[in-house]
Amino acid sequence: MKTIGLIGGMSWESTASYYQLINEAIKEELGGLHSAKILLYSVDFAEIEHYQSSGDWGKSAQVLSEIAQKLEQAGADFIVICTNTMHKVAPQIQEKISIPILHIAQATAEALLEKGIQKVGLLGTKYTMTQDFYKEKLLEAGLEVVIPDQAGVEEVNRIIYDELCLGQIKGSSKQLYLSVIDDLRKAGAEAVILGCTEIGLLVKQEDTDMPLFDTTAIHAQKAAKFAISSVI
Ligand code: GLU
Repeated sequence: MKTIGLIGGMSWESTASYYQLINEAIKEELGGLHSAKILLYSVDFAEIEHYQSSGDWGKSAQVLSEIAQKLEQAGADFIVICTNTMHKVAPQIQEKISIPILHIAQATAEALLEKGIQKVGLLGTKYTMTQDFYKEKLLEAGLEVVIPDQAGVEEVNRIIYDELCLGQIKGSSKQLYLSVIDDLRKAGAEAVILGCTEIGLLVKQEDTDMPLFDTTAIHAQKAAKFAISSVI
């Protein structure tokens, strides 16, 4: 089995989900007492968020690259960055290591195509929804992407940083997300990507009949499958 190098803590609330989901997937695949081989480097998210909000992506790329190098030196066979947003600097991190990064948007695009989805709504941080680094992976896969209107982008983003990353799960915020999901449906989306690793803590598939693609679950499943595959 390969050793998975997790870069987590962004936020730790969702990294805890990754740890559980990866181990559950390994148990499901291999049975018995099997569990995942994981090296976890969990950051202080306040530091990373400061670089995000001040626009210092270069500094965050440097910090996360150093962490990826440490994980490689410690024996990780591949890297999983446990956040959608910080995939903005995935290319810079990849340049500094010789093991692969399992890209969250690519894994999600594959899951959507498997289900025959063509047009998809995207929820996430404002960086993920409005910048190109994430959507371009979906577009390259042949998908059409719709995002909320300006007010929706701001509210969805605010709830991620002011509530979900602090472990706060509020009914009013769930209702807001469900109404944004409804707007995305009206804009033609056939499914919605929960493109922030904490959203699955707030909105569950049973809350809506719109098909949801939870990036945390998809990424964790992919990591577990890759860990036990013969592909390098
Ligand atoms: N975990 C979130 C994501 O998947 C947001 C936190 C971050 O900015 O990294 O994008």
